[in-house]
Amino acid sequence: MTGSQVPAAIAEYRTAADVSPEETRDAIVNPAHCVVCAGLTATSVGGLFDTRFGIAGNYEVRRCLQCGLEQLFPVPAPAQLKNFYEHYYNFSGERDTVYTTFREWFFSSPLYRLWIRLDGDISFHTRKGSGRLLDIGCNEGRTLKNYARNGFQAEGTELNETAAAVARAAGFHVFTGQLEDFAPATPYDVAVLSNVLEHSLDPKAMLLSAHRLLKPGGQVWISCPNSQSWLRSVFGQWWINWHIPFHITHFSPHALRNLLEDSGFLHIEIRQITPALWVASSIVAWLFAREGRATRQLRNAFLIFGLVLLCRALLFPLLSWGNRAGRGDCLVATAARAG
Ligand SMILES: [Zn+2]
Repeated sequence: MTGSQVPAAIAEYRTAADVSPEETRDAIVNPAHCVVCAGLTATSVGGLFDTRFGIAGNYEVRRCLQCGLEQLFPVPAPAQLKNFYEHYYNFSGERDTVYTTFREWFFSSPLYRLWIRLDGDISFHTRKGSGRLLDIGCNEGRTLKNYARNGFQAEGTELNETAAAVARAAGFHVFTGQLEDFAPATPYDVAVLSNVLEHSLDPKAMLLSAHRLLKPGGQVWISCPNSQSWLRSVFGQWWINWHIPFHITHFSPHALRNLLEDSGFLHIEIRQITPALWVASSIVAWLFAREGRATRQLRNAFLIFGLVLLCRALLFPLLSWGNRAGRGDCLVATAARAG
């Protein structure tokens, strides 16, 4: 970066929005560039650490002075992230524990379908339809079963080979390379990014890939945390959706809409849901998480399920107010490729 680029980027932004003098100073003194538009960023939240697995390291979230997108800093290197996913993430070999047994039973039970009608469906499990559906980041294929049950011809992409093997054993086609390299013979009617986009090191490239993989008029369905959630304000550094160091970007409704438009999508609709599980998880992180230590209480089925029921029963007026006020915990978006 040359000296002349710094004031130019900030001057452009300052005419358009509210950058404080502190942010301007921070962006110059401690320069880091936006993962989407390469604009300068300034610290919006500091002192963050992994509240789930106890991965070492201190992080902050910075806000792009140009496009407004919030993002993790420092961004882990791709090889480091791959290592974290293999060691800690969803499919790291945890099986037959009380938590996973309960989870498996719950997700395949009629009780789950009843629950998401009450609590909100952030994974599109209640949407019925037909045609070809691609679940991007399908994990071990649990959700593929739901989409198939709802009438879709469901397929997935998944970087984790172990998880993909489980989905294939259940009869699903799963592509395991980089999304940019995926070139199916027939395009899809629906591409699903359920709590995936915020994990991407390049969310715009991911949306452009989704766009390319869809047939004209095809839809992308996205869910991701809302960076304007009221729960972020309440829980501060303990907000479960910081999810250090796995959540790279943090979208406001405005930032998500802009990125969808820039990636060629139309008819964008964004609504908000606040899953009781996310509220319960923030409470558990606030009560129990300590830096450098795994929060095993997050895998305690009785504690989590009890808190989920309590949050749903006692906080429902607040949760529904948050959703209506644009400050819900999860954004649920639908957009279409031009027909
Ligand atoms: Zn930016």
